[in-house]
Amino acid sequence: MELKDLVAIITGGGKGIGKAIAEKFFSEGARVAIWDIDFPLAKSVTTSLDSSGKKAIAIKVDVTNETEVALAVSEVISQFNRIDILVNNAGISRHKPIEEMTLEIFESVMKVNLTGTFICCRAVAPIMKKQGRGKIINIASLGGRTGRPGVGVNYAASKAGVIGLTQTLARELGPSGIYANAIAPGPILTEQTKQYPPEVFATWNIGRAIMKDGLPEDVADTAIFLASKRSDWITGVTIDLNGGILIR
Ligand code: NAP
Repeated sequence: MELKDLVAIITGGGKGIGKAIAEKFFSEGARVAIWDIDFPLAKSVTTSLDSSGKKAIAIKVDVTNETEVALAVSEVISQFNRIDILVNNAGISRHKPIEEMTLEIFESVMKVNLTGTFICCRAVAPIMKKQGRGKIINIASLGGRTGRPGVGVNYAASKAGVIGLTQTLARELGPSGIYANAIAPGPILTEQTKQYPPEVFATWNIGRAIMKDGLPEDVADTAIFLASKRSDWITGVTIDLNGGILIR
């Protein structure tokens, strides 16, 4: 068990990649708090993991709302007494060509993906500092690394911002025993991406070297590594997870 007795928060853990991370963390012995804007979804995941509610809790949180985030941190502390791992996974995309990208659409994506990540990092930092240890894992994207088909400028900018935030956070908090790393997945097959025709999903995968599709579990396995002691000499990095699309 890689994460035995550690306490992990996973934002946007009600479905997709976040759900896979919550499930794998739980199976590695972690106690998990799933934060999602969709409470019934988060609750259905925690109930399936632990119906007693002692080792898995669901909290309704909009990561862009400072008050909700602060209250959720207090609830995790009151239930589990500590926070060892924060996975900033909640994210949205609203793609439009630049001419049709209104300020509202641009800012809505920046707000969840980048500002939400900042708000959650800031909320847990004092607790991790007091503990003298903590691991922050931010879910970025291949779209923040390089121009990709089907990725809007808002999404790309937000995810590039997440990578910069992660690097600076790692420097700032490292001396306090807090690690900050990012994962930049390429196309991942989730319920949502499965709704696109296979030929569209295939265009996102152009250039990959490994022919299997990326799965939420692939991201979760990398998250386990970054959350565990096995990565104790790694901070400020972004792990690319894309079957080789980015080989250059
Ligand atoms: P997903 O299936 O849409 O799941 C994201 C979850 O986050 C949903 O439950 C969503 O709720 C929730 N959420 C949205 N806004 C929120 C907010 N303000 N506060 C709290 N929760 C919120 O997404 P996914 O595909 O698993 O992606 C997870 C992360 O990986 C995202 O950061 C995404 O950008 C990144 N990523 C995904 C891929 C991919 O191919 N899937 C590739 C690279 C990176 P609602 O559904 O109600 O909005």
